[in-house]
Amino acid sequence: MDDVLLRQALEFGKPYTGKGEVASYIPELSKADGRELGICVRTIEGEEFHCGYWQRRFTIQSISKVINLSMALEHHGFDAVFHKTKMEPSGASFNSMSRISDNEDIPFNPLINSGAIAIVELLLPLGLDYMLSAVRDLCGDKYITIDEEVFQSEWSHSARNRSLAYLLQSKGLMDGNVEDTLRLYTQLCSLSVTAESLSNLGQLLANGGVQPETGRRLLKEEVVRTTLTMMLTCGMYDGSGEFAVRVGLPSKSGVGGGILSVVPGEMGIGVYGPSLDRKGNSVAGQKVLEYISRTEKLHILDRYSRNSLSAPQN
Ligand code: GLN
Repeated sequence: MDDVLLRQALEFGKPYTGKGEVASYIPELSKADGRELGICVRTIEGEEFHCGYWQRRFTIQSISKVINLSMALEHHGFDAVFHKTKMEPSGASFNSMSRISDNEDIPFNPLINSGAIAIVELLLPLGLDYMLSAVRDLCGDKYITIDEEVFQSEWSHSARNRSLAYLLQSKGLMDGNVEDTLRLYTQLCSLSVTAESLSNLGQLLANGGVQPETGRRLLKEEVVRTTLTMMLTCGMYDGSGEFAVRVGLPSKSGVGGGILSVVPGEMGIGVYGPSLDRKGNSVAGQKVLEYISRTEKLHILDRYSRNSLSAPQN
């Protein structure tokens, strides 16, 4: 890994910025410049590499679902979390209602909107201030705040999430504090991060929940394992399967244009590219990650080919 590789990856990704659109269902997000692209890598040894718009602030959006899930697992444990959602890829869009209207079914997983909203109710007793300082710690970025414009914009266009939340309540999956839960969910989506903050979070997850620089454990090992597994199978919504084939790294996207990727035991990667495909994933960001994963053989299953015996020379 070095700066030259990141520059090449960005050059490879740039033409794809023209192949998508910035999100507009949250009006404030449509102000982003779809041509921007940035990347930051943090290794567990503490090295950092970056290129392009790696310092641009943008809203974390659905990448907050990774933090919400790990905090809920930390504070409430595995059974309480997976009483509210399953652990299955949905194969449907991020704000899908699919199957949760059936009586016995619950949201597919914690990384789509329905599952995440159900999970955020578990975080209500912790409160926004606690969550904000946890996010700053996990992302190693004390400048993270709520982007009020984006929050207000989403809050006044949240009919879809509101209907998901009331549906969950009607099924007994939420206790009743629907508006407070929705507000906290939306506030956590509106936190402003950079590719660098995401790479710090990735570094922490890559290192099993221990901050390499301080030796402090911020997340339990089993919490990290569950979170990374959910990211691998469900982190890119209905694009998760193809992304797993092409990139092969636990990852999570957000409609603000960010992607968080983790190379377990090695590094965290944060990418910013607000031009999105129809599934809500950064078009160029995915290409940048594909380039890096291929070039450096980072796909988690490439580990087997790296270690396999070569054909005998005779
Ligand atoms: N805040 C957005 C929403 O709830 C997050 C969606 C996303 O990033 N995919 O719709």
